[in-house]
Amino acid sequence: MQYSEIMVRYGELSTKGKNKKQFIRQLGHNVRHVLHDFPKVETFPRHDRLHVVLNGENSDKVIDRLKQVFGIENFSPSIKVDKDINQAKQVALKLLNQQYHAGMTFKIDARRQDKHFPLDTYGVDNALGSYLIDHIPGLKAKMKNPDITIRTEVRLNGIFISSKTIDGAGGLPVGTGGRATMMLSGGIDSPVATYLGMKRGVRIDMVHFYSPPYTSQQALNKAKELTAKLSVYSGKINFIQVPFTKIQETIKEKVPEGYLMTIQRRLMLRLTAAITLKRHCKGIFTGESLGQVASQTLESMVAINDVTNLPVLRPLLSMDKTEIIKIARKIGTYKLSILPYEDCCTIFTPPAPKTKPRLDNSRKFEKFIDVDGLMKDALDNMKVTTIRPGDEFLNSNQDVFSELL
Ligand code: ATP
Ligand code: MG
Repeated sequence: MQYSEIMVRYGELSTKGKNKKQFIRQLGHNVRHVLHDFPKVETFPRHDRLHVVLNGENSDKVIDRLKQVFGIENFSPSIKVDKDINQAKQVALKLLNQQYHAGMTFKIDARRQDKHFPLDTYGVDNALGSYLIDHIPGLKAKMKNPDITIRTEVRLNGIFISSKTIDGAGGLPVGTGGRATMMLSGGIDSPVATYLGMKRGVRIDMVHFYSPPYTSQQALNKAKELTAKLSVYSGKINFIQVPFTKIQETIKEKVPEGYLMTIQRRLMLRLTAAITLKRHCKGIFTGESLGQVASQTLESMVAINDVTNLPVLRPLLSMDKTEIIKIARKIGTYKLSILPYEDCCTIFTPPAPKTKPRLDNSRKFEKFIDVDGLMKDALDNMKVTTIRPGDEFLNSNQDVFSELL
């Protein structure tokens, strides 16, 4: 069926009082952005709804895009008719027939914005309800939890009828929650943490550490490809790659083995904090989950977090790996994350890193290296690129080719 518009209902933002206007404006902007390649679509953000007028564009494709936009509670593809109850009856019957099986129940849920329309909401309910019952033998109305709800809105510019309500992504529109950086590895967790950060309305800049020649070009490309996958939820993303080889080599040479991991992490966080402040971001996200590995115990967090006062946000803190994997599959990052390219954190890691590093020792051993000089060098050589939905970095043919060499 050719729908005329998608009626979008706001989620949490409808309770945001005076910020509501800004939220709606940002959501309108984000929706326009994800639909930019549907030239005929028009969007009208209003105080209670956002109307996506299709003007003949394919509704299934538009619906798939809308499912990725944070700040949407749910939406309904709708058909517009003139303000004529007879036309409304026929469309309601068509929509009902699309879903109806013997024994199902229904109700009409009418609203009236145009107070001059001759029928009030009760009249619309009645007119459509009795028409449907007359035309479908055995059809029964049910007010509580019916199988099918026909929503009907009489507006100034026509009557809009819908029979389906599709869940949106929830959360808050990206851009309403400020900016933060994300420490992105190529693993399973940090992409999921990114998604959850975006879901709370935060715009995210990716920071990725790489250590050539210990880590390959493919490992770097994997982090970029993950960023492209995540950009469908937020629009383009700044990707900041920071060389980490020299720092790791120096730490390996100067620091006692038990503290290699802790000191490496302190330097990563120091660099990320410096980048965060320079870019006027307000916090740092990571993919850490309490107790998952040696660096993610409370003691390790004390020893590592010591280097910054910025909020370090850990959306996965209390999640089990199975829960995290479930989200990774849902958002389409899992298959990429399990590609076996090495991360810089796995090189130079002793077989048994300290699970309870001491803060005083961490501070002491860090002094064995030239922190400022190493940081300056890494920051001077970092590179920022912009990554967009659909960008590709992992060419499968290249994969095969490099394996042949
Ligand atoms: P992930 O699945 O995100 O890699 P993990 O469980 O493997 O997490 P670690 O590898 O110890 O745990 O990393 C913990 C966190 O440190 C990551 O979630 C990420 O936020 C950050 N991190 C790890 N490696 C890098 C890297 N190369 N660049 C930037 N951040 C990183
Ligand atoms: Mg990892």
